[in-house]
Amino acid sequence: MYGNELDEAAKIVAAKRDENLKFEHARLTADEKDDLLKKFHPDRIASQFSELKIGPNKGQKAPVELTQMLQAKPRFEPEQIDLTHVDYESDVLVIGGGGAGTSAAIMASEAGAKVLLVTKLRVGDANTMMAEGGIQAADKPNDSPAQHYLDAFGGGHFDGKPELVYTLVNKAPSVIKWLNDLGVEFDKTEDGTMVTTHGGGTSRKRMHACKDYSGAEIMRTLRDEVLNRPDSITVVDFTSAIEIIKNEKGEACGAVLINMETGELRIAKAKVVIIATGGAGRMHYQGFPTSNHYGATADGLVMAYRAGAKLLYQDSLQYHPTGAAYPSQILGKLVTEKVRSLGAKLINKDGTVYIHPLETRDVNASGIIREVKEGRGVDNPVQPAVWLDTPMIEMIHGEGTILKSIPAMYNMFIKYGIDIRKEPILVYPTLHYQNGGVEIDKTCHTNVANLLVAGEASGGVHGTNRLMGNSLLDVVVFGREAGIEAGKMFSGIKLADTSKMNLDHVKAFEKEREAAGINDDVVSPKLLPRYTHGNPEFEKVIPGASK
Ligand SMILES: Cc1cc2nc3c(=O)[nH]c(=O)nc-3n(C[C@H](O)[C@H](O)[C@H](O)COP(=O)(O)OP(=O)(O)OC[C@H]3O[C@@H](n4cnc5c(N)ncnc54)[C@H](O)[C@@H]3O)c2cc1C
Repeated sequence: MYGNELDEAAKIVAAKRDENLKFEHARLTADEKDDLLKKFHPDRIASQFSELKIGPNKGQKAPVELTQMLQAKPRFEPEQIDLTHVDYESDVLVIGGGGAGTSAAIMASEAGAKVLLVTKLRVGDANTMMAEGGIQAADKPNDSPAQHYLDAFGGGHFDGKPELVYTLVNKAPSVIKWLNDLGVEFDKTEDGTMVTTHGGGTSRKRMHACKDYSGAEIMRTLRDEVLNRPDSITVVDFTSAIEIIKNEKGEACGAVLINMETGELRIAKAKVVIIATGGAGRMHYQGFPTSNHYGATADGLVMAYRAGAKLLYQDSLQYHPTGAAYPSQILGKLVTEKVRSLGAKLINKDGTVYIHPLETRDVNASGIIREVKEGRGVDNPVQPAVWLDTPMIEMIHGEGTILKSIPAMYNMFIKYGIDIRKEPILVYPTLHYQNGGVEIDKTCHTNVANLLVAGEASGGVHGTNRLMGNSLLDVVVFGREAGIEAGKMFSGIKLADTSKMNLDHVKAFEKEREAAGINDDVVSPKLLPRYTHGNPEFEKVIPGASK
C-alpha cells in the first residue's frame, strides 16, 4: 500500500496487467535507439559538459563537476610534504578495497609480493558489495566468448578497446571457476549446474548470480581471502590516497595518504602502484541521485590525471534506468535489472507498455526520461517516474519467486509498506556507473610507468555503455590481471631512493592551472560528498552545502 494518491495510479496498471503480460513490445531499431538517446540521454546535454583546459585530455569534454575536480588544487601544498618520512614500504601498493583492489592484492600476493592495500572506508565498503544482479560469463554449451564479445562490444556502441573486450570475455569462464573455488555461493540447480539468466543486451543466458546480492557474496569471499593472507597483504582501513608520488625517472613509486579519521598525512612507497578506486556516483552529476556507496567520488581519476595518465570516455556515464523513485528514503537505490530479467515490464501512467524491458540501460533510461518529459510519467512527490510492474514476476514464474530470487528487493520496499509481489514500484534513472576512466591496456598499464589501474576506475572495457553483469566481471578479470602483472614486475624494480621521491608533477600541474587562468580554491580528490545534492531544505540552512 502506498497510502496516498499513488494507490489510485497503481490501479490503472493492475487493470491492464493481464493484457500487458501477453503483449511483447518490439525491440527498437538502431535508428530509433539513436534518436531516443540523442534526444533524452543525460550524456547528450551539451551544457552539462565542459572542456578540460589542462592535463593529458586537454581540449576534451568531461561532466562539469568532474572537470572541476580534475582541474582543482591538490589537498596540500607539495612543498610542505616531507617525503623522506616513509610510513609504509611494500612491493605493490593497491589503492581501493573493492572487487578490483582485493583481486589485485590476492594475485600479487600469489606471486610472492608484499602488498599494502589502503582503502577509504573499510575493506569491502565498495560498489562491489552493493552489486545485485550478477556476473556474466559464457560458460554454457549454447554460448561462447565470441558471442559474449559481440554483445559487449555492440552494447558498448562499438567504442570498447577490442583487446580489453577480448580479455574480458575470454577470461570470464575461468574467473567464475576461481570465484566458485574460493567459496562464492552461486545459484545452482540440485545437480550443481550454475543457474544462468538473461540481462539487458545479452543474446544468451550467461548471468551468474547469488540471488540478488551477488556483489555482497563475491566481496565477502574476496575480503576473507585478503584477510586470510596477513603475512603478505597488509590492509589499512580508513586511509585514502590523495596523490601519486614519482621517482626521478617519472615512474610511479608510491602515494600520499590521508587518515580519514585524524586527517594526518602518511607516505607509502612501493615498486608498483595499482589504482582500484572505483566509480563516481557520489559526484551526483546533473543532480542525479545515485546507487553508489559513499566513497565513489572519482578519486582515482583525479590522482591519475595529475600524475599524467590519460583518461578515456570520461564523458560517458551510465544512468541505470531503474533507480527507486519512491519513497524518498530509498531515492536512487538500485532496483536490479534482474527484476526486468524475471519479466517485470516498464509501464507509463496510462498503463501502457511503452518499451521492451530489456533494451540496453542507456536506451531504457532515455525511454523513462522521455515518458516523464512528455507528460506520461507518474506524478509522485519524490520524483516523477514510471512503473515497474513487479507483480508480473509471480504471474510468470509462480508464487514464491520474488522471495526466492530477489529477496533484497522485497526487503527494500516492504520496510515502507510496499509489497512488490502485489504492487508495482516507481522507478527513475539513477547515476550508476562511470563507463570511462583511466585508459589502460590489457595488462592494466597506463601511460605512466609502474602505475596500473583496474576496475571501474579504468576506461575502455565497456566502450560508452556497460552491459549488466560485465562490471563485476571486469573488476575480477582486470583486478586479477593487474595483480598478476604487478607480480611479474616487482622483482625487476628497485624501491625508489627516498631522497629522489618527488611531487614535481603536482607542482607542474599547479603551474598549468595558473597559466590557464584557473584560480579557484576547489581542492581534489573529493573523498566524500557534502550533503545533500541540491536539496533546497538543506540549502536553506547551510547555503552552498550541496556544492
Ligand atoms: C547498487 C549497485 C549494483 C550493482 N550491480 C551490479 C551487478 O549486478 N553486476 C555488475 O556487473 N555490476 C554491478 N554494479 C557495478 C559494480 O558493482 C561496480 O562497478 C564494481 O563492483 C566496481 O568495483 P571496483 O573494485 O572497481 O570499485 P569498488 O567496488 O567501488 O571499490 C573501490 C574501493 O576504493 C575505495 N576508494 C575510493 N577512493 C579511494 C581513495 N582515494 N583512496 C583509497 N581508497 C579509495 C572505495 O572506498 C572502495 O573500497 C553495481 C553497482 C552498484 C552501485
